[in-house]
Amino acid sequence: MIFGKGPERVDEVKLRVAEALKRDVGRGIVRFDRKYQRQLGVEPGDIVELVGERTTAAIVANPHPDDRGLDIIRMDGYIRRNAGVSIGDYVTVKRAEVQEAKKVVLAPAQKGVFIQIPGDLVKQNLLGRPVVKGDLLVASNRSETYYGGSPFDDLLRGLFEAMPLGFGELKFVVVNTVPKGIVQITYNTEVEVLPQAVEVREESIPEVTYEDIGGLSDAIQKIREMVELPLKHPELFERLGIEPPKGVLLYGPPGTGKTLLAKAVANEANAHFIAINGPEIMSKFYGESEERLREIFKEAEENAPSIIFIDEIDAIAPKREEVVGEVEKRVVSQLLTLMDGLKSRGKVIVIAATNRPDAIDPALRRPGRFDREIEVGVPDKQGRKEILQIHTRGMPLEPDYDKATVLRILREMKSKGSFDEKKLESLIRRVEEARDEGEVKEALKSEGEIYAEVRSRLIDKMLEEIADKTHGFVGADLAALAREAAMVVLRRLINEGKISPEQEKIPPEVLQELRVRKEDFYEALKM
Ligand code: ADP
Repeated sequence: MIFGKGPERVDEVKLRVAEALKRDVGRGIVRFDRKYQRQLGVEPGDIVELVGERTTAAIVANPHPDDRGLDIIRMDGYIRRNAGVSIGDYVTVKRAEVQEAKKVVLAPAQKGVFIQIPGDLVKQNLLGRPVVKGDLLVASNRSETYYGGSPFDDLLRGLFEAMPLGFGELKFVVVNTVPKGIVQITYNTEVEVLPQAVEVREESIPEVTYEDIGGLSDAIQKIREMVELPLKHPELFERLGIEPPKGVLLYGPPGTGKTLLAKAVANEANAHFIAINGPEIMSKFYGESEERLREIFKEAEENAPSIIFIDEIDAIAPKREEVVGEVEKRVVSQLLTLMDGLKSRGKVIVIAATNRPDAIDPALRRPGRFDREIEVGVPDKQGRKEILQIHTRGMPLEPDYDKATVLRILREMKSKGSFDEKKLESLIRRVEEARDEGEVKEALKSEGEIYAEVRSRLIDKMLEEIADKTHGFVGADLAALAREAAMVVLRRLINEGKISPEQEKIPPEVLQELRVRKEDFYEALKM
C-alpha cells in the first residue's frame, strides 16, 4: 500500500457497472469519476484491476462529462464478460499490479473460424492493452491504441483491416500469458495466434450485447426489468409474492432489432437461448409442431435460466377469426398449455416478436401469458446515428479534416480543459497555418492522444450527417448501407485496376486506400 497524495487514498472502490459509450466498444477502457481515480491514485492511461465473478483489467480513461459525481464505471460487454459482471452490478476496482507480457497466446473465439494472421499484426491492435488469461478481446481498427502508436500504425492497421473486411471484427480468447496475472502487451511482447478456436464455455461469450443495439434505450430498459431481473433474481419476486412474467411480446416493423434485443438480454442474463421461428414450425408435418414445442420447453426448463424466442408469432397464433386451420389451433393450445405449465418461476421466459400485434390470438395476451409488451420502433435520427456507429465499428472510416471544424473542436477541447493546454494551443496554431485537409491531419497526428479524440469527434459528425439523410431507415437498412458503402470503395479500387482477384498479394499502399468516406455512403444511398 502506498501512502501518497493525501488521506483519502483507498485500496479499492466499489462502483456500479454501466454500459460503455458506443464509440468505446472494443477499446479496453473504463470511464469513471475523477474523484474515485484520485482515491485509487490512478489517472487516465493507468491500468485498474476489476473484480467481479472473474478478474480482469482495463485502461482508465477520462470520465464522460455527464457522469460527474456518479458512482458508476462505464465498460463494454467484453470487459463486463471478462470481469463476470453485468450492467447494474457492483464491481471492485483496484490499482493494478501489472507486468510486461513476455508472451501472449491468443485463439479465435468463434468456433469454426480458421485464421492465419501473424501475431505481430494482431499485436499492433492490442498495444498497451492489459490482459488476463481467459479474457475475451476484440481486435478491430477502431480499437485505436490509447496512447499514440508507432509510425507504422496506419500501414499495419490497413493490412489488418483488409483481412477481416466483410467478416466484421475478430474476437480472440487469451489462452495463456507469460508471466501470469495482469500483463500488458508492449512492443516487446511475443504474440502468438493459434489458427483455431480452443474450447471455451460458449455461453459465456456475448455474441450480442446491449451496446450492439442502437436507438432502443427505452426498450432495453424495459426488457432488463421484465426479463433480465427475474432471470437473475427470481428470489426478489418470490419475496414480494408476485409472479414474474412468463411471456413478453416485442412488436414493431421488421429489421428494427427485436431479435437482437432478445439475444442481448439472454447474453446479459447468462441465459440459455432457444430461437424458433413461427412459419418454420408451422411448416413441419402435422403433429410434429406440437412435439417440437414440447421439446423446446423441456430443453428450456432443463437448462434454466432460459429464454425461448419465438419470431413471427403471428404465423403460429393468428387471431381465431382469421382463417385458422386445425394445426394452428392445436399449436396455439399447445403453446398456451406449455406456458401455463411453466413451473420454473421466472427461470424460463418466452419472448415473442411480431410486426402486427393486433393480428395475434387474444388468448395469448391474457394474464400469465404474453401479458407484457415492448414496442421496438423505427429509429429517430439519434437512433440511426447509434446504429451506424455500431455497424461501422469494424470499418476503416475516414472523416473530412475540415479546417474550420477541426479548429472549433480544438478550441472547445481547450475550454473544457481535459487535455494539455499548451499542446492544444500549439496545435491550434499549426492547424491555422495548414493549407489543406492533408496538412490539417498531419498536424493533428503529431499529438497522438489529441488526434484520437479529434478523429473520433469528426467520425461522430460524419455519422450524424449520414443519419440526417436516412430518414425512415430501420436497423437492418442501415447495416446494409454500411456494407454497401464498403463495397463502393472496393469496387472503385477494382475499377481503377488497383485490386484484382488474380492478384496474389494486395500491396500495402492499396490496403491503405481502403478507407470509407462520407461520399461512399452517399454513393451507396443512390443505389
Ligand atoms: P427484427 O427481429 O426486428 O426483424 P433483427 O433484430 O433481426 O430485426 O435485425 C436484423 C439486423 O439488422 C440485425 O442483425 C442488425 O444487423 C441490424 N439491426 C436491426 N436493428 C438494429 C438496431 N436497433 N441496432 C443495431 N443493429 C440493428
